[in-house]
Amino acid sequence: MSFILPPLPFDREALAPHMSAETLDFHHGKHHKAYVDVTNELVNAAGLQGKSLVEVIRAAKPGPLHNNAAQLWNHSFFWQCLSPAGAPPTGRLAQLIESGFGSTEVLLSTFGEEAEKHFGSGWAWLVLEDGALKITTLHDGDTPAAHEGMVPLFTLDVWEHAYYIDYRNARPHYVEAVLNNLVNWDFIALNLDEGGIERADQK
Ligand code: ZN
Repeated sequence: MSFILPPLPFDREALAPHMSAETLDFHHGKHHKAYVDVTNELVNAAGLQGKSLVEVIRAAKPGPLHNNAAQLWNHSFFWQCLSPAGAPPTGRLAQLIESGFGSTEVLLSTFGEEAEKHFGSGWAWLVLEDGALKITTLHDGDTPAAHEGMVPLFTLDVWEHAYYIDYRNARPHYVEAVLNNLVNWDFIALNLDEGGIERADQK
């Protein structure tokens, strides 16, 4: 059994103009696919065939297999975080936002600042920690799937390959466009069950 490139959970035109079909063709069709292909190439040599993707991430030594498997998982989670018509947060999620940040606007602006100032490649994350929302960033391919107890709710890819076609070097424009238009609040609310790691896993 090989790992697969999970299909996008939306039409490739659905996120335009904030994220173009061309960006998705490259980001999903080439970058994400390359992480799948390299993981499949390396997994047998490491003696980890038959393990789930998350098990491979946790068992692989630091190096190419760990990095590619982590990026395979990160991107599989990331696409689910995006939606062309996200309904605003409600229920427990709305309460956590209120108690942690005061408002959705403050949450998004705080998250946006973290994503914009993150140095180099990596990912901005909204996580659940001790029953509260927390914003953090991880470098390069580092992933919550490798950190026991880290509960991912939402992520934003800030690798340059995520925005160069649509926004050239202007990471802040990309960050603002996604946060203001493409956040899948339903997926974030779903991940409050602490099942987010499994939602991008593969057997
Ligand atoms: Zn990416």
